[in-house]
Amino acid sequence: NLFPDRANSAGMDLASEAVLAGLGDALRATAGETWRAEPMIPGLENERTARALRNPADHADVVGHAAFALPRDAQFAATVAASVAQAWAATPIDDRAACLTRAADAMEAAMPRLMGLAMREAGKSAANAIAEVREAVDFLRYYAVQARTTLAGTQPIGPVVCISPWNFPLAIFTGQVAAALVAGNPVLAKPAEETPLIAAEAVRILHDAGVPPKVLQLVPGAGDVGGALVAAPQTAGVMFTGSTEVAKIIQRELAKRIAPDGSPITLIAETGGQNAMIVDSSALAEQVVADVVASAFDSAGQRCSALRVLCLQDDIADRQLAMIRGALHELRIGNTDRLCTDIGPVITAEARDTIETHVAAMAAAGCGVERLALPPETAKGTFVAPTIIEIDDMAQLGREVFGPVLHVVRFARRDLFKLVDAINATGYGLTFGLHTRLDDTVRGVTRRIAVGNVYVNRNTIGAVVGVQPFGGCGLSGTGPKAGGPLYLSRLVRGGCAVDLP
Ligand code: GLU
Repeated sequence: NLFPDRANSAGMDLASEAVLAGLGDALRATAGETWRAEPMIPGLENERTARALRNPADHADVVGHAAFALPRDAQFAATVAASVAQAWAATPIDDRAACLTRAADAMEAAMPRLMGLAMREAGKSAANAIAEVREAVDFLRYYAVQARTTLAGTQPIGPVVCISPWNFPLAIFTGQVAAALVAGNPVLAKPAEETPLIAAEAVRILHDAGVPPKVLQLVPGAGDVGGALVAAPQTAGVMFTGSTEVAKIIQRELAKRIAPDGSPITLIAETGGQNAMIVDSSALAEQVVADVVASAFDSAGQRCSALRVLCLQDDIADRQLAMIRGALHELRIGNTDRLCTDIGPVITAEARDTIETHVAAMAAAGCGVERLALPPETAKGTFVAPTIIEIDDMAQLGREVFGPVLHVVRFARRDLFKLVDAINATGYGLTFGLHTRLDDTVRGVTRRIAVGNVYVNRNTIGAVVGVQPFGGCGLSGTGPKAGGPLYLSRLVRGGCAVDLP
């Protein structure tokens, strides 16, 4: 732990009856609330028409309304950001960090309300919603401590555009924004078009905590708005989490110009993965079951860290698969308004269709496909049945499929390293899991695999801020890892002073 004065949020103990009762009441109180997001761009007349946002688990539930910015609003916002760049850079690091810690305290105090919003806007389960708020709080506190410890004497890069995804609509949104702000950069934040409501709430919290409205602007919208922000001449850096395709588009755009100080524009991109887990015949079968189910199906598989390809040593494959199937049948799928729901919806009908098209194509190609039955209530939203698809080898997979679909491939022990090479050959490099009780295998495989996050004898999701810095290589992103000691260094000129262990 590089920053011993720091502790992660304790979150909430769902095993406690008293906590559960209080949480149930708090969530019921927020169930009927309607939220609002609109451009927060000082000086801009806000007359944009708002659209309704619906709960992906139950389309009858209107969670709120969002007014999107237009591309010309984004250009205006960039000029506003540039106008305050010097003043924010001159604000003492301690004061900037104090804004983050106040916001962390406010978010932690508002945990049930923010959870309720994450559950309705993004279809998060209660457990995932707790993790969501905790991670946002952890990012705020971590970057605040890190800034105080390492940023003295550094210069910020200038206005930073933060483009964040819907799958961690509070955590990743807050993490990007907090890092850029505390390093001294004005921020233009564009949340995913599916989840602007919780982002707007995060911005309100940061403003209340002392970040000036011109220093942190919310620019909600679709891809055209993100494109306008990236292309704005005032933009000195872009932080992006989303698909590999969009990261490449952003990089091509940024390559066309240079930052106002003459340097190339900074890009931090965190993208997808074709994440694999290797299970050999020495692994503990029961633990493998729990870790595979969590890695592949938690959050309905909508994490970039999620497990996509389970590689089972052939002599244990049938037994291990039978156990995994049994566990899948115990999962509760449905509306996330119940605290006991394990698996909620996928984010949109479009996302569902993309996943279903993949499953149908794999079935048509002759792969064995098994699916759970969906309970009738799932007809109210956009759900995908947890699915297992048997494939012959890694090369059968193309791009990442972002949902509750697990591919299974069998391997012979003598081909272990060929398999590792095949995983590397996908070009992605985000997470990787290994289940084995053989030390030599741990050493050999972890040395050879080219990914950002390796997990041995555990699941592959839920990287913890300050403990498991998160980010990949190759098609999975540029680094530096979020929640790690090097993240802020990319947001200031010349890097910052970090003593690595
Ligand atoms: N940090 C998350 C995890 O470890 C994944 C982030 C993402 O999906 O973008 O599960």
